[in-house]
Amino acid sequence: MDASTIRSRITGSLDGLLIGDALGCPVEMKTPAEIRARYGTLRTLEDTPRPWWRPAGLHSDDSQQAIALCDALLEAPDAPAPVFARLLVEIYEAYDKGPGQHGGHRGTGKNFRVTVDRLIAAQGSDPFAGAQATAGNGVAMLAAPIAWRFPTEPARRRAALLSVARVKTTDPRAAGAGAALVEAVAYGLAYGTLRGIDPARWIDATAKAEQEAAEQWGADGPTTHAFSRALTAMLARWPCERAEMLDAIAAVAGATSDRPVGPSAGYALASVVTALYLAMDAPTLERALIDAVNLGDDADTVGAMVGAVRGAADGADAVPKRWREGLWAKGAFNDRVEALVEGAAARWSGGGGGWKPKESLASSEGRWSRMAERARGALGK
Ligand SMILES: [Mg+2]
Repeated sequence: MDASTIRSRITGSLDGLLIGDALGCPVEMKTPAEIRARYGTLRTLEDTPRPWWRPAGLHSDDSQQAIALCDALLEAPDAPAPVFARLLVEIYEAYDKGPGQHGGHRGTGKNFRVTVDRLIAAQGSDPFAGAQATAGNGVAMLAAPIAWRFPTEPARRRAALLSVARVKTTDPRAAGAGAALVEAVAYGLAYGTLRGIDPARWIDATAKAEQEAAEQWGADGPTTHAFSRALTAMLARWPCERAEMLDAIAAVAGATSDRPVGPSAGYALASVVTALYLAMDAPTLERALIDAVNLGDDADTVGAMVGAVRGAADGADAVPKRWREGLWAKGAFNDRVEALVEGAAARWSGGGGGWKPKESLASSEGRWSRMAERARGALGK
């Protein structure tokens, strides 16, 4: 593939991730009815309301962690976990206050805060010190850069995914969800569409990651392959009516959950399957993102995942300008894209690595958090 094509597709995936995240932030944890009452249909980048006020267009934890992983893969492609864990601590230390913040991490959940706290306590001695038994979407939401880094190497994608997933989780369902997303991004990068993806190969790659996760992590059990079964159920039903599919996804997810789950719930079997479905099903990237965030619930994460997957397939030109122009991080990660494009051209034949960004992620994230805090003060929010 020529450099301009891979550049466009990686940029589309990166911008899709940042935009889906920022677009969804204001309606995180809201119901579709609450979103309709306030916005009609949410189509524009908006401030996140108090008490966790953040300015429109500023990305949250989903993108922060994905870029951290991107940097880790560029610095240490064959052992990204220790670098990724170190970057999570550096982002924490880059900022020390603000509503809804955990250090420099914006919009975090409780599990992730515990992970970061344990990594800080471990003082760099163990990148896996903060892993928890959680089957959320915390691996899938950050995993797209694995496909950007290893677009043509499925075995290296799986190795990187399992290593990095273990920084956050010990549950194979989270690994399966991450693998499914990575494979969808890789397919999009390679073919410029998601429509021809072979369900059997996709499910197989997902199940392989689940199995290896279960074995490596000593976690084999009845739910080891629950994610790939949920993906299988979705693909068997697709294409069908939107409402019918979302109900079916929620029902399959609910069968392995002890509480009721909607299609955009943080549980991997709900939100990750929904994100993959919307990315495949919607007529355009723009529609996919609007449909994703207007489901509410874990809206920013579903938006980030949909954007990363569909953006990889459709490329940079499919990203609406009004959204890209509204991103705080617009163009901020172009040096990463160029490093990835160079690597893809060289097929990353053994090596690469040692790459460092012009400005560290902790530096840019700390700067954006301080700017957001000043804006909040100036506006009296
Ligand atoms: Mg978030």
